[in-house]
Amino acid sequence: MRAVVFDQYKSTPVLKDVDRPTPGPGEVLLKVAGAGACHSDVAVYREFDRDFGPPQLRPPFVLGHENAGWIAELGPGVDGLTVGDAYLVYGPIGCGHCRACSRGQDTYCENAATMPYLAAGLGRNGGMAEYLAVPERNLVPLGEADPVAAAPLADAGLTPYHAIKKSLPALAGGGRHALVIGLGGLGQIAVQILTAITGATVIATDVNPAAMARAEASGAVTVPSGPAQAAAIRDLTGGRGVHAVFDFVGVDPTIALAMSVVAVQGRVTVVGIGNGTYSWNFYEVPYEAELTNTYWGTIEELYEVVDLYRAGKIVPKVEVFSLDDALEAYRRLEAGELTGRAVVAP
Ligand code: NAD
Ligand code: ZN
Repeated sequence: MRAVVFDQYKSTPVLKDVDRPTPGPGEVLLKVAGAGACHSDVAVYREFDRDFGPPQLRPPFVLGHENAGWIAELGPGVDGLTVGDAYLVYGPIGCGHCRACSRGQDTYCENAATMPYLAAGLGRNGGMAEYLAVPERNLVPLGEADPVAAAPLADAGLTPYHAIKKSLPALAGGGRHALVIGLGGLGQIAVQILTAITGATVIATDVNPAAMARAEASGAVTVPSGPAQAAAIRDLTGGRGVHAVFDFVGVDPTIALAMSVVAVQGRVTVVGIGNGTYSWNFYEVPYEAELTNTYWGTIEELYEVVDLYRAGKIVPKVEVFSLDDALEAYRRLEAGELTGRAVVAP
């Protein structure tokens, strides 16, 4: 079958023929409906090597960690599932028996260091192919919902959802403001989730005006980049500052912006893996403001994200590419030319 393969460090992925996977014990084979292209894949093939990045992300493997599809075959020991049913895939794959995995948080698997991979599409073969084999415990049912538009929810939906849920205490109480920095695949869905599950006013920014226009269509108030940006954001909050900031870029200037507008007892979550740094001083940050990072989410949260999707409260905007055009999807992602999450539909 054809697949998009991360073939060697520091080079763009290649389209090539690979063996169709055979589902192992406890696994199912999915006919892939859609596989989203995430900016983290760009870090995998542009930045990581033997000395930088998680050791499990060693080439070669098939890319695609935002996957949805239809059951094509059940592996040994799997029953009670029906061939043809549509599922979204919870990507992270931990040991399956530690405390973190037992609560559905494979992202923080206590045995991750000895696992040969991190997730489907991150160290083991992912969904940018005609077929994908995954553990049955990673399946989240989609029912009648469209699996192609659902694919990005597996990461571009789940990651912001997890970060927002952890920030809910900062957003409770009325008159609260959230700020979303970076309005690409994850940031656009973050705006929708904040609107759906919090009463906060959502402020949003991006260096790309078209991305800001899309966030406005989802109900955000936007503030362009530039020297007056922090003051304009503070003005929108009535001078109190932003109670929860979500930085989907994560470079020095975006973390600095986040920390310059955060409110007393506010929370800044850096989601983007821009590898930025921030230096801290007692007198220069608001009291009890928190700065944290985050990684993906739990399978239980993915069920909640699917509920919001099926209720029409999250509507992922996607651009669909054929498998033959998958490399063009990554080119456009890197060039900032996409108008929605790129989904490869084989
Ligand atoms: P994307 O390319 O779809 O979107 C990035 C957006 O940020 C674009 O709209 C771009 O114009 C904007 N941007 C770039 N530089 C900016 C700046 N200086 N100021 C404001 N906006 C800027 O990327 P994505 O797939 O949405 O991923 C976003 C980030 O999140 C990436 O770094 C990705 O690796 C990371 N990520 C992290 C996790 C996690 O678990 N922590 C999960 C998935 C993705
Ligand atoms: Zn584990």
